[in-house]
Amino acid sequence: MGKQHFLPAKLGIEFKTIKAMVKIYCRAHHNSSKESAPCADCREFIDYANEKLDRCPYGQNKPTCNKCPIHCYKKEQREQAGKIMRYAGPRMLLRHPVLAVKHLLAEKAPVPESYASKSSNRHLRKSEGREKS
Ligand SMILES: [Zn+2]
Repeated sequence: MGKQHFLPAKLGIEFKTIKAMVKIYCRAHHNSSKESAPCADCREFIDYANEKLDRCPYGQNKPTCNKCPIHCYKKEQREQAGKIMRYAGPRMLLRHPVLAVKHLLAEKAPVPESYASKSSNRHLRKSEGREKS
């Protein structure tokens, strides 16, 4: 796994959900086992998602990616995300019911009309001096 930023609270739960979905998808599509999943490609995708969550301008008020008006993923990763979500989404309820329910509730929340400037996790991380890079 590459360098990942620590994501607290809601962003952290979202990241955990993405990781769980990628593992489900990877095991079914990339010949990986419970121990070896996620494979190198999927790990790269997880790092990408981590970076995007860290930079999300909504910060902790982030809507679910599905409803978000900002399309921050590049085309290739967006297609990959779509495939992963379609496959793993329905399977999440059985494997990770708590995360799945949290995500379903988050899907129902209204999308914030705007976001405050400098509220991304990345900005807070730097301004609080939690991390220097
Ligand atoms: Zn994989």
